[in-house]
Amino acid sequence: MALLLRNVRCVVSCDENDTLYERVDIFCEDGVIKEIGKDLDVAAEKVINCSNMLCYPGLINTHHHMYQFFSRNLPKTQNMELFDWLTYLYDIWKNMDREVVSFSTKCALAELAKSGCTTSVDHHYVFLDSSSEFLDAQFEAADLLKMRLYATRGSMNLSRKDGGLPLDSVVQTTDEILRDSMNAIEKYNDNSFGSMRNIALAPCSPFSADADLYRQTAYLAREAGVRLHTHLCETKDEEHFTKTAFNMRPLEYMQSLDFIGEDVWYAHAIHLNDEELDLLKSTNTSVSHCPTSNMKLASGVARISDMVKRGINVSLGVDGSASNDGSNMICEIRNGYLLSRVINGKSSPDAYEFLKMATCGGAKAIGRDDIGSIAVGKCADMFLIDKRKIELVGATYSPKSMLASVGLNSSVDYTIVNGEIIVEEGHLKNIDEEELFYQSHKKTKEYLNFN
Ligand SMILES: [Zn+2]
Repeated sequence: MALLLRNVRCVVSCDENDTLYERVDIFCEDGVIKEIGKDLDVAAEKVINCSNMLCYPGLINTHHHMYQFFSRNLPKTQNMELFDWLTYLYDIWKNMDREVVSFSTKCALAELAKSGCTTSVDHHYVFLDSSSEFLDAQFEAADLLKMRLYATRGSMNLSRKDGGLPLDSVVQTTDEILRDSMNAIEKYNDNSFGSMRNIALAPCSPFSADADLYRQTAYLAREAGVRLHTHLCETKDEEHFTKTAFNMRPLEYMQSLDFIGEDVWYAHAIHLNDEELDLLKSTNTSVSHCPTSNMKLASGVARISDMVKRGINVSLGVDGSASNDGSNMICEIRNGYLLSRVINGKSSPDAYEFLKMATCGGAKAIGRDDIGSIAVGKCADMFLIDKRKIELVGATYSPKSMLASVGLNSSVDYTIVNGEIIVEEGHLKNIDEEELFYQSHKKTKEYLNFN
């Protein structure tokens, strides 16, 4: 299948040279960008006239909990911070089933695709007795929508009876977790060029996974050649927990467990001092910055400007739907930019830098060099915005900074994954949106026991 984007008005490539192309064609074949240039003499089954389109690399979301799509904006959670918020929600999440996971993953991926995302991480960490099929449901959803899914197999083994935060009914034993993690890697992980499926291993947090689980997970992941992910330094409560329980700050604790390095990316990484930032840099550990969630849960503001100055790789994540409360990557780019401006003023990274966090920064965090920019030889993952919109009049003269400084309040016009169109003229191509809405709405009411 060949796809030709004809006469693209502007291409923000996010490549190594930050190339900005004007009025070029992009020819994609077999899922790969084959040629970029003017008036290409090629034939394709599908041709899109892009003379009014801005083209960007597919966005990469590096942190999410898609199952939370059905437990957001709940009245009682509005004024809570992380620990109380989790404690309240575990009680709902213990009722999760395969249908909740299936429909919520479809909805989250749908919203992501409509905001230009082509690859998403998910961190599912609530596994119940009956939940061996949860990851199956997630990969089925991603296959249906034709998006790249990077599932991090989450885990919790430290419940209240052992001094952790989660309910006893939402954790598993270390043996169960390691067995299921190995099965997930064998069944789904594909490290080849253009892969649509990856697995990483991801103990949930220092207050829901014990030291032995972190250590054994790190060992298993490195033996199997997959990456590692966890929540870290999200709140002062977490810092208090590790200081009290282990007499160590959270990053020091991770270092003691060998859960740090170039194959690791942390979600949040907010409460870090200068020495700890230096350690992230020297170990080449990446960060998933989740500004909307951090604002909603009043967790704090990550030191993104200091990270960028040190050369730490920063990516962006929407975080779980219950703390965002959405899955819109363009919103995340804009919120990241604005939040950093509040804290850092004119020394903040510029608007384009935040786009790069959501593209090439994301690719680096998850260890992929075949996505994250528009260049010959890379996977054909892109999205297009028709600039003939009232809200974009006068706003498109600087396409590199537009998504962060202006944003986009509607769906993107096209999203392309692996050379295939998955959003066309603002609508999902591979799923009936209306039917998904009604089925998901019905399931949410059942799950939350709402009438
Ligand atoms: Zn999270």
